[in-house]
Amino acid sequence: MGTLDTDTLLSVYLALSGLTALFTLAGGWTTRKPGLWLWSGAFMASLVSQAVRPGIAELWGLQASKPPGHLGGVVHALLVLAGMQAFLGQRIRWLAMASVFGVMAAFSYTLLATGQSLWWSLSITQAVSGLVMAHAAWIAWRARQPGGGGALVLMGVVLGMAALVALARAASILPVGVSMAQLDVANEHWLMATLLLVVAEGFAMLVLVNSALRDEVAKLADFDPLTGLLNRRGLRSRLERIMQAPFPQHARPDMAVAVLDLDEFKGINDRFGHQVGDEVLAEVARRLHAGSGPGDLVARTGGEEFMLVWTASGCQAGAVGEQIRALVAGSPVPSQVGDVGVTTSVGIATGPWQGNESFEGLVRRADHALYAAKRAGRNRVVSG
Ligand code: GH3
Ligand code: MG
Ligand code: MG
Repeated sequence: MGTLDTDTLLSVYLALSGLTALFTLAGGWTTRKPGLWLWSGAFMASLVSQAVRPGIAELWGLQASKPPGHLGGVVHALLVLAGMQAFLGQRIRWLAMASVFGVMAAFSYTLLATGQSLWWSLSITQAVSGLVMAHAAWIAWRARQPGGGGALVLMGVVLGMAALVALARAASILPVGVSMAQLDVANEHWLMATLLLVVAEGFAMLVLVNSALRDEVAKLADFDPLTGLLNRRGLRSRLERIMQAPFPQHARPDMAVAVLDLDEFKGINDRFGHQVGDEVLAEVARRLHAGSGPGDLVARTGGEEFMLVWTASGCQAGAVGEQIRALVAGSPVPSQVGDVGVTTSVGIATGPWQGNESFEGLVRRADHALYAAKRAGRNRVVSG
């Protein structure tokens, strides 16, 4: 380790923990993500547990200053785990965590009180920290999603490495059959790796939160907040993805589009108020969603206009159109002012998948059919 000694490394550890605590605190402040507060607390614990050591050494001697540092590592690992659970919306087991800390504190201070080697304290607290970090790494890894951008994978890998380093450090400093000087060298070696991982942990946490924010923005851009259905933009992007899927020429199924426009909806708003209108829209959306299959797309494309797209297979367009009309109009919508009857007109068009006609052409035909349904007296299905 050349001229580096344990105290120098611990000072750097303190500084890096402080900086990372600030970064994650700023991240928590700006994003309001609960995980970040706890992660900031994790680095704060490392910082404080090192910062108090000189004062304790002054008051009660060098040996007494060691357990706080060892226990700081345990608190750090426990708060990293809690932050991971908060981020993923999982339950945090505070009682179990407090018990782990209590047992470790009792162990370290018993060693101190009975004058035994505090290398045991460092080794065992590092081993426990390693196991806690491994648990945090595992839940991050398990929550990763295909196409999820890799932020949880990065988090899992970094926490897994931190776990391995803590376990390796624990094993390398067991005070059996080796000299104090050898223990010091081994400890400094692994402390150096721990320093690098403090920075890597903070980095992975910010990447993870950044990617979660990006997902939220993407969701806001693609979904309608009132009904939770896809909006026009979300429908388009999903269609593009589906259209690019490779199908052998002869196996391309038909695609069917249904356009709905609720009948005389303005009247519902005028009679019962806009809020009841919103309730009706949300219920109609729920019925359309419940009545659609897993491969179908359901979108709110305008104020009281919806679109359904069947891409999985050719379908009996007329029959399906009648089904969705009945879904909407079959029973009145319960609302704050009582049951409100609502009907819809439906225009349907089917066409060959990736045929000569573009999707826009298909929608135009469905729109014309919808107008025909309106002209013919509403509350009916017309195929175009
Ligand atoms: P038609 O049978 O010809 O479709 O009659 P309509 O009254 O449904 O047609 P129009 O397009 O004239 O009116 C649509 C109404 O939908 C007008 C607007 O106030 C209402 N609307 C649009 N968006 C919302 C919304 O988000 N909430 C509520 N409550 N009403 C909405
Ligand atoms: Mg309309
Ligand atoms: Mg309408």
